[in-house]
Amino acid sequence: MRAAVVTSFTTPLQVMDVPVPEPGPEDVLVRIETSGLCHTDIHAAHGDWPVRPTPPFVPGHEGVGRIERLGSAVTSRDVGQRVAIAWLGGACGRCRYCISGWETLCEEQTNSGYSVDGAFAEYAVVPAAFATPVPDEVTSLDAAPLTCAGVTTYKAIRVARVAPAESVAVFGIGGLGHLALQYAQIAGAFTIAVDVEDHKLDLARSLGADHVVNAAREDPAEAIQRLGGADVSVALAASSASFDQAFRSLRRGGRLVCVALPAGGTMQVPIFDTVLKGISVIGSIVGTRNDLADVFALHAAGRTEVVSLERKLDDVNESIDDVLAGRVPARIVFGLG
Ligand code: ZN
Ligand code: ZN
Repeated sequence: MRAAVVTSFTTPLQVMDVPVPEPGPEDVLVRIETSGLCHTDIHAAHGDWPVRPTPPFVPGHEGVGRIERLGSAVTSRDVGQRVAIAWLGGACGRCRYCISGWETLCEEQTNSGYSVDGAFAEYAVVPAAFATPVPDEVTSLDAAPLTCAGVTTYKAIRVARVAPAESVAVFGIGGLGHLALQYAQIAGAFTIAVDVEDHKLDLARSLGADHVVNAAREDPAEAIQRLGGADVSVALAASSASFDQAFRSLRRGGRLVCVALPAGGTMQVPIFDTVLKGISVIGSIVGTRNDLADVFALHAAGRTEVVSLERKLDDVNESIDDVLAGRVPARIVFGLG
């Protein structure tokens, strides 16, 4: 099968022929139709983070396709069923996190396209229990970005406990940001979009953002404070400076939700302001299988719009360059079908 493989952290990905993976007893083999490109795949390919994947490996954790073969012990899925393969590629199901609805914090979890091979390939293997069914109303092109960008921002809005008429500032309008705006609106919030690219702010406006701020031209924290301050800031841009701006944008009682993972990123949190203003700082990592089912249900009901650009897997390196240069409005999805 064709796959885009990271062979080292300093060379481009290689699109090459590799063996079709063999499903274990509890796994399913999925023929991939679409596979989204997430910033995390780029961090993986470059070995940016403290815990590194081991080359050679296949990135990709927004994989959508049909089950072609079941492992010998699988009874919960069917051949031909369309499923999504997300970042959470497996969890133990027994630990305190798994049994309390926080499987995303499981210390024994596997991560698709990082600790196990992912979906930048014609086939991928995943435990049947972690192959999340995709409703018929959701196209494979839309399902791919929802599988990471969607579930991650849906969870960020959930953990921030966004209430109607609150204001939510979204820092970074890309694959994640354009969906974060929509989940904040579904929760009843007013939204403020922050980015450094005007074309992304145009996209935010077209998706119903109440205000937009270009952080290349003015200090977004000052601009947002002039609007009364944000109840919730969602930090989605892979830049440490934007986390600081997101914090300073908050009003009293505000919540900062940290989602992006800038390489070597640090954040200075002023204790005085945090205490006197009753501010919360929350880390939020992807979402559970239930969260992903919610995300699909909202999309199937027509409540969200996914903006994406389809490319061929052969264009993976050019696509990474385009993402890093800010040239992609929202998400790139590789079509493999
Ligand atoms: Zn991702
Ligand atoms: Zn666990």
